[in-house]
Amino acid sequence: MVYAFDDIKKVGVIGAGLMGAGIAQVLATVGYDVVLNDMNAEALAKAKTDIEGRIDRMVEKGKLEADAAAAAKGRLTTSGDLTSLADTQMVIEAIIERLDIKQSLFAELEGIVSADCILASNTSSLSIASIAKNCENRARVVGMHFFNPVPLMKLVEVIGGAATDAGVVDATYEMGKAMGKEPVIAKDGPGFIVNLGGRAYYTEGLHIEAEGVAPPEQIDRIMKMAGGFRMGPFELMDLTGIDTNFPVSTFIFNGYHSDARLRTTPRHGYMVEAGLLGRKVGRGFYDYA
Ligand code: NAD
Repeated sequence: MVYAFDDIKKVGVIGAGLMGAGIAQVLATVGYDVVLNDMNAEALAKAKTDIEGRIDRMVEKGKLEADAAAAAKGRLTTSGDLTSLADTQMVIEAIIERLDIKQSLFAELEGIVSADCILASNTSSLSIASIAKNCENRARVVGMHFFNPVPLMKLVEVIGGAATDAGVVDATYEMGKAMGKEPVIAKDGPGFIVNLGGRAYYTEGLHIEAEGVAPPEQIDRIMKMAGGFRMGPFELMDLTGIDTNFPVSTFIFNGYHSDARLRTTPRHGYMVEAGLLGRKVGRGFYDYA
């Protein structure tokens, strides 16, 4: 099978949340036809409105011509039905960070898309080999890990699993460049590069709080003021979504066999149980109401 970057004209994006909406927006803006899919009709409608609003703001700020904006909007379609991805040459999955759900989605996709369609996952921490586990053709499964907010963040990690075809990794790397990003090749392992390297930023913040040294507001303020970070760990967790940040922390901790440097605190998981998921629900470590 030949997986060629030049053959990619239409891309399916599954999951119209924070990440999927951003990925779809960038793809449509740089010239790809995009089908954005979500099982939740409300999420799909919100994503379309948000994307169009952000494209309009690019025009207002002089970053995009009005006709290019209209063309980008015209290239984006939404669908609640996975079979509408049948004629895509690449699918980028950005659904909930749950291995069992991603595994069954990837296996289901194989029955829908053509044999040479690349299947990419935006997973933050799950191994690409494990996501591909139920697929007949594991060679076409690859990681394409964007950062939030996707239209602004330049980095994208491209991850080949044990069975991934080198041509699939190359085509995905080229897609990253075509989307205006700076791709880096990362090894398939818990958290890849950024989410492993940056994990301690969150966990140390949580431990400082748990030990009563300082509250979140103070930790965030000091990390920005003295550490030179753009956001503090608690602000960043609220932006990411605690329902993403906590499972990612847990996968990486488990993946490194309970390495103490990666251990989080009980409050982290409690936030998920309590529905305090961050900005997307109006409350997390901070109140956004
Ligand atoms: P989100 O909760 O904002 O959105 C997820 C969307 O997926 C929801 O709209 C949900 O309805 C939809 N969904 C769930 N299961 C589905 C299914 N089976 N079929 C179709 N749609 C389904 O989540 P997010 O923050 O966009 O994260 C999505 C993925 O991207 C996760 O794997 C996450 O780890 C990864 N990621 C997140 C960030 C971040 O900062 N939030 C950064 C990089 C990668």
